[in-house]
This record gives sequence, C-alpha cells and structure tokens, in this order.
Amino acid sequence: MVKKLNYLLPTHQSPDGHGGTVWSSLSASGGRSTESRIGRGHLTLRRASQKRFVLAAVIFVLLAAAAFFVALALLKSAPKDLRVTVLDVGQGDAIFVEFPSGSRWLIDGGPDEGVVSQIDRLIAISDRRLTGVILTHPHADHVTGLIHILRRYKVEKALLPSATHTTSEYLTFLKELRAQNIQTTPVNHPFVWSGSEGQTSWRWEFFYPERDFTEPVQDLNAVSVVSRLTFGEQSFLFMGDAPVEVEKLLMAEGRNLRAAVLKVGHHGSASSTSDDFLGVVRPQYAVISAGAGNPFGHPAPATLKRLQAFGAHTYRTDKHGWIQFKTDGKTLTISSAR
Ligand SMILES: [Zn+2]
Repeated sequence: MVKKLNYLLPTHQSPDGHGGTVWSSLSASGGRSTESRIGRGHLTLRRASQKRFVLAAVIFVLLAAAAFFVALALLKSAPKDLRVTVLDVGQGDAIFVEFPSGSRWLIDGGPDEGVVSQIDRLIAISDRRLTGVILTHPHADHVTGLIHILRRYKVEKALLPSATHTTSEYLTFLKELRAQNIQTTPVNHPFVWSGSEGQTSWRWEFFYPERDFTEPVQDLNAVSVVSRLTFGEQSFLFMGDAPVEVEKLLMAEGRNLRAAVLKVGHHGSASSTSDDFLGVVRPQYAVISAGAGNPFGHPAPATLKRLQAFGAHTYRTDKHGWIQFKTDGKTLTISSAR
C-alpha cells in the first residue's frame, strides 16, 4: 500500500508558495530508502500528506460527478435529432414531439396524470417548459392528462378542434387554458407550419378539421386533429381517434398522407385504418397506443391483420411500453421500454 502511495504523495510545496503541490515521481525503491531514514516527525508529516491526498481525491470525485450530471442534463435537454415518443399512458394517447432546437409539443395527454412522470423521464427536471399542447379531440382519454400538464409545466400555446363538449375534464381543461392566458388556436382549416433545423427542413401540415363544429357532434372521434410532420426525409402521421370517414375525406382531397410512421387512429380500433388508407400511407412502422387489457378490445385483431398484410412493423404501448423514434432527417431509429 505504502509503495503505491509513494508515487502519488505530494513531496513539497511549489516554489511560488501558493500551496500548489508537486507530485512525487519517486520510484518504489526510492520511496523505501527515504522511509528508512525518516523519523517520527516525518511520519506525522506523511500522514498529513495522505489526508490531503484523500481530500483531493474526494473533491475530484465530487467534481467529476457534478460534471457528469451537468452533461447528462444538457444531453437530455438538447437532443440532436427530432424525437417522437409515444408515451406509455395506458388506455389513451400522448405523443411527445421534441425538435433539436428545443421546441416541444405534446399531442394529447392520456387519461390521467401519469403523463407527467413520462415526460419528466425525457427532459431535464429544471426545464418545465413546453412550446405547446395539441388536443386532438375532447374525450377524457386524451384531455385529462393535459390538465395536469398545464398545471405542472409552462405551456405557451394550445391547439384544439372547435367542438362543444361538456364533460368536467374538458371544461376544466378550457378553464385552465383561460386562467393561464395560454394562446389557444382552433384547428378549423388546413394549414402548414414549416422551418428548418440546421440543414434539415421540416413541415407540419394540419389537414383536419376543416371547419368549426357549432352543432352537437355525434361521434367526437370524427373531430380529431390529423397532422403530418415531415422532418427531412422522414414523416409521421398523427391520426388522433379519426375514423374511416375522415380517412376517406383526406384521401378524396388528395392530401399527401405518406408516412414512415403512422400513429394508428383510435387505439387500433376496427373503425379506423382501412386497407385503402394503408395503401396510401404505406407506413413502415405503425404505433398503437392502448392500455393492456382495456375493456374496448383495442387494438382490434382485424386492424393488426391489416397492418401486418401491409408489412408495417407494429409497436404497441400495451406490449412495448413507451416507443421512441429518432431521426436526423435521414435515418430513423426506434427504441422502446420493453
Ligand atoms: Zn381515444
């Protein structure tokens, strides 16, 4: 032990007298011969040196740990790629979209406050800021988590379809938006956002709804916000709970629905994701957000069969947990919780 330490013990103060140490380069045998000549006083001095060494080592380890956590926080808050994460929120939808420059959007919030811990896993705990939330439609399995998000994060904007609904969850969400004075935009006509991130250009096209719904709506799924995000060469199609009728309308309008990743409509229910639609979208990957053992039988075996027939690799939150896509605009990588 002593032999080893001899290499590292500071032997004397630096010439400038400011406490800097010069590290010994004594050989092991040199150290032994020095030891044989020294008396008690020297040994006390040596113990003091050892203490200084231990202290220096502890400080070094603490600083290294601090640097590691700062680097980790920076990495967490500044991804290099676009990241689209289908969160594991049980029976509902919540999709977190993070741009490399730092803007963050949450499409739906799932059925409860579970979404908060899912997002906390992805971003630095000190950075509780979202660019915006998009509510696809007012059903509780999409809106409830957003109430918790508005209360826990600083949210700048909100997009939602213009349709009336009177459940307490939806009304609480609207009240929270008003109370916080969050800029709220109805999706009632097709529009496009676009921009670039470094060399990569992106477009976020909002196809649907195309109008305000002033009359009571029979099937609220049919007011779902449908959008397509293109980042470089990769595209994502977010369907909300849109049924086949909406798919048909978008196809009849000749919208460009091609997407490498399809967030499957309505938790994989049989009333969405028709053969015709899949023929147009031609997804490489399909993602279904559904709770394990949910009472609706989502996803429907018929939908899974259709996706399989089209060769789409299908990921499901009830089986895989959260599912994350990352792209630099060219390649696409997928990871999941399990
Ligand atoms: Zn739903």
